[in-house]
Amino acid sequence: MPTGSRFLVPVGDVLRHLGRTRAVHIETPVDWSIEQFTVLPQPPLGADIDLTAVPGGIVVRGPVEVVVRATCGRCLRQWDEARVVDVSQLAETVDEGDDGYVLDGDLLDLEPILRDEVLLGLPLVARCDPPCSQLGEGAETRLNAAAPEARSDTPFAALQDLCDAGD
Ligand SMILES: [Zn+2]
Repeated sequence: MPTGSRFLVPVGDVLRHLGRTRAVHIETPVDWSIEQFTVLPQPPLGADIDLTAVPGGIVVRGPVEVVVRATCGRCLRQWDEARVVDVSQLAETVDEGDDGYVLDGDLLDLEPILRDEVLLGLPLVARCDPPCSQLGEGAETRLNAAAPEARSDTPFAALQDLCDAGD
C-alpha cells in the first residue's frame, strides 16, 4: 500500500451533515522536503485532524507533528527538530479555479494540505543558533586537520567553537 494512501479519507458521511465534525488520526512516514529541510520518516508524522462540513466543503483543522532535519546553509551542520504545525484549511467540494484544495467526490486527500502547511511553516533558510561562520563545505575538515595551537591563533577557531557548541 503506497504511503500516500494513508492520507486518503472518505468523507461522504461528514459532507452530508452540515456542521458535523469527525476526528481522524494519521500516523505515517512521509518523504517531504524543501530546500534545507527534510521531514524525517521516523518518527512518523502524527496528525489529529478534525474534519467539519461547512457550506462548500470541509474544514481541515488540527495539529500535525513531525521531526525535521535541518541543514545549516552556512556550515552544513545538520540537526533535528520537532515541529508542531496547526493546520487550518478548506477542502472545497467544487474546484473554484483558485488553486484551493478540492475534494475528489467523497474522498479527501489530506497529503497536499498537510504537506503544504508543514513545509510552508518552515523558515526560509536554516541557520545555526547561535550563529556560525560562513565556512562552507570542507572548511570544517581543514580546521580539524590543523594543529590545535595553530587553530587558536586564527579567528576561525572561535567561530568553530561556536558551531561545536550548538551540537
Ligand atoms: Zn551553521
